[in-house]
Amino acid sequence: MKLPIADARTTWDYTRRLLRANRREFLLIAAMTMASALAGLVGPWLLGRLVDDVSTGTTAGHVRDLVLIAVAAILVRGVIQKVAQQRAMVFGETVFAAMREEFLDTATALPLSTVERAGTGDLVARTTNDIAKLQNAVRFGVPQLTVSVVTILLTVVACLVMAPLVAVAIFVGLPLLLAVVRWYLRRAPDAYQAESATYAALNGTITESVEGASTVDALDLGSRRNGRSDADIEAAYRAELRTLRLRTVLFPGVDLTFVIAPVAVLVWGGYLASQGTVTMGAVTALVMYTFQLTGPVWNLVYWLDEMSVAAVSLARVIGVRLVPADRVASDASPSSGDLEARGVRYAYREGHDVLHGIDLDLRPGERLAIVGPSGAGKSTLGRMLAGIHPPTGGSVTVGGVPLVDLPLEELRRRVALVTQEHHVFVGTIADNLRLADVGASDARLREALAAVDALSWVDELAEGLATEIGSGGAALTPAQAQQVALARLVLLDPDVLVLDEATSLLDPRAARHLERSLAAVLHGRTVVAIAHRLHTAHDADRVAVVEDGRITELGSHDELVAAGGSYAALWHSWQHE
Ligand code: ADP
Repeated sequence: MKLPIADARTTWDYTRRLLRANRREFLLIAAMTMASALAGLVGPWLLGRLVDDVSTGTTAGHVRDLVLIAVAAILVRGVIQKVAQQRAMVFGETVFAAMREEFLDTATALPLSTVERAGTGDLVARTTNDIAKLQNAVRFGVPQLTVSVVTILLTVVACLVMAPLVAVAIFVGLPLLLAVVRWYLRRAPDAYQAESATYAALNGTITESVEGASTVDALDLGSRRNGRSDADIEAAYRAELRTLRLRTVLFPGVDLTFVIAPVAVLVWGGYLASQGTVTMGAVTALVMYTFQLTGPVWNLVYWLDEMSVAAVSLARVIGVRLVPADRVASDASPSSGDLEARGVRYAYREGHDVLHGIDLDLRPGERLAIVGPSGAGKSTLGRMLAGIHPPTGGSVTVGGVPLVDLPLEELRRRVALVTQEHHVFVGTIADNLRLADVGASDARLREALAAVDALSWVDELAEGLATEIGSGGAALTPAQAQQVALARLVLLDPDVLVLDEATSLLDPRAARHLERSLAAVLHGRTVVAIAHRLHTAHDADRVAVVEDGRITELGSHDELVAAGGSYAALWHSWQHE
């Protein structure tokens, strides 16, 4: 299951809305561009007049005046262009920043169940590759396209006004230009997308080979990995060839039209001038104008191409907004902190239940350990109990209200989940902790760290709580990162905590110590711990054994050991390890 992709209409509506929100600035830039394009028309026009005046006889003073005006026009144009370009860049950045913020809002509000089902890879690709492609298009593309279109239109209008009969010749190259560009644009998006896909594959293969170098060596997979890299390089080479072939048609094709147009204007204009229909000056001006079109037309072609690629990315980025919410908050409020699961079923894929009707009453303040074989459904149950996914059957309620009916903030205050996956954010240790409680004092942060046995190593860091961590800062070991995640949980202080192998990265002794000190701090809170180390179960008030999507045994450690079922077997074999 992939995240949705927006259709052309939605994409277009979004673009229009974005431009409309910044309409004043956009119109201002367009007006300045127009002024600069007009100033650019002055030079050739004066040159034309000069030709006419000189051929009919004029004074040196007049020539000097015309030249001075031309120089002034160039200066004025330069100044307007500078201001317009500056504003256009700021405009591009503003629009892009707004898009980015909106995307971040959408991405962070995305139902976790959807992200988990679609896999984080898709979302990450949209956040990185697609946004990067859009960045270029929005920052430079929109301003450049505006400049090109305005300049081309004004130049053509000027030609038509000045000498309509001669101006017709400008369009001689147009059919060829349109044909070549159309041919190219029809093939380019697919070809370039295929090209990026081959590079993505190549990157993947190389990264895997390097990261797994020792495994590759140990299993003697070297030649196989090399073979894969060669195949990927071959594919990338073919894709490159294909796009290169497209460019070998586009570039000469467009260039040819740039040769045809001025020549046509010169020949046709020369003929008309010899007939006395137009002046030589008008022909001179028009030839110059035709040359001046080269830059803007190239720009237009280039950016249309880039924009067609960016449109694909935009559709993918906007697509994220189309994910339907997986829950609607009601305003019911829980009457107590009791968590109850009734007949809970869950299927990641329709028709394949991984939980088959689970009933569980958590007594407030108790510590429940969930154990069982891998793949039995423990993590899935944990996610149900934390309200991450709405169950596909049955219900999980807190104080009588289904978890998924609670507003997200309320839900997180009541139940929180810590898994093996945790993230260190760029910032200080204190910043990382305050994500859970913005107003927490340093003393409170230290308490939380102490509760997860992390205070000693934090104090050993050069700047203690103020040490920068995350990418670019001090590197935490995975176990330390896990402790920071747990300390955050202590600060959040929810009624119910679900720990899914949350201490798995610590060594067994440290893990047990941490769990005990955590238990002391969390006294009175309900804790559900999914455990692969049985000492967690031993220390818990009750143990639930999950097998094949069902709770098969439930009771205290001593009861279950006495009962002699699977838990007893597990416990005995674990003790002899
Ligand atoms: P445990 O935590 O006991 O190892 P899980 O709850 O992770 O078990 O998995 C239970 C079953 O659900 C397994 O068969 C697993 O393959 C499947 N499963 C888990 N997560 C997903 C997912 N995101 N998409 C599809 N199937 C999943």
